Amino acid sequence: MEFTGIMAGPSQAAVSVSPAMHNAAFGFYDLDWLYVRLPVADGNAAAATRSLVQAGFRGWNVTMPHKISIIEALDDIDDSARRIGAVNTVDVSEGRSTGRNTDAEGFLLFLRDEALAGAKSAAVIGAGGAARAVIAALSDAGVASIHVIARDPGRARNLQTLAEAFEFRTEPDLADFDLLINATPADLPDLPVDIGSLPATAAVVDLVYQPLRTKLVEAALALGLRAFGGLGMLVHQAARSFEIWTAKEAPIGLMREAALGQLDKRREHPQAPA
Ligand code: NDP
Repeated sequence: MEFTGIMAGPSQAAVSVSPAMHNAAFGFYDLDWLYVRLPVADGNAAAATRSLVQAGFRGWNVTMPHKISIIEALDDIDDSARRIGAVNTVDVSEGRSTGRNTDAEGFLLFLRDEALAGAKSAAVIGAGGAARAVIAALSDAGVASIHVIARDPGRARNLQTLAEAFEFRTEPDLADFDLLINATPADLPDLPVDIGSLPATAAVVDLVYQPLRTKLVEAALALGLRAFGGLGMLVHQAARSFEIWTAKEAPIGLMREAALGQLDKRREHPQAPA
């Protein structure tokens, strides 16, 4: 049997929908693989990495708060992880661990699914790891003008190397954008934007997927805008991890259904153990 999983802080590991997605995909190919929750306290990612490699894990996903701190414990990182400065997928081959990042590719595939990759001008709220992946994907999609809205100007300016068409704004006029992306865990009314000033043809994307429809998404839909939650990106980044580990085409539809099933269960029984 091959083992994979999600390395995350204990509270994030408990609510992750990744085990449902990956175990459904392993089941589709009748693979004797298992994807487990790997709760790891902040500061312990390096020690946990050494144990997992020794235990023979084939690979694992990485999320908050370990995406950056795990890098020092890996034998290598690939170009995608180096560019984003964070790892969300570890691949182990012949005892050597390689860190990769499938978030940017996941976001780009989501943009293509929803016919959003042709956007001309995009505003990204946030300056953390997810914002970095989104900016890299927008740049790869050829979006001509990318603006970051962040409360920490220093952190925002660090993102400049990810895209040539980059600008930082503190008080943006949203009338200039045809795509707005929330890459923070915050929701309305705490976000520093007035979506009422977006053009009628604009689309809004919230990377948050729990809940499936955030207040930002609801408000954008109420204004008649196209609006999307983070499930599309989540499923695509997971699918790329699956393909890295197994070298098989990911059953995307099945993985999406598994994620939705898990999120539905959580909504109906919020106190139940994961
Ligand atoms: P980070 O902690 O790396 O960054 C969070 C960013 O959000 C920071 O820039 C932070 O600002 C900003 N922020 C937090 N709260 C507020 C607020 N109230 N107002 C304005 N800005 C705020 O997190 P990630 O980038 O990894 O994740 C961000 C979100 O994206 C999370 O909700 C995560 O679940 C989601 N995500 C979804 C994915 C998907 O597949 N759908 C993939 C990856 C992430 P500051 O720098 O000032 O602290």
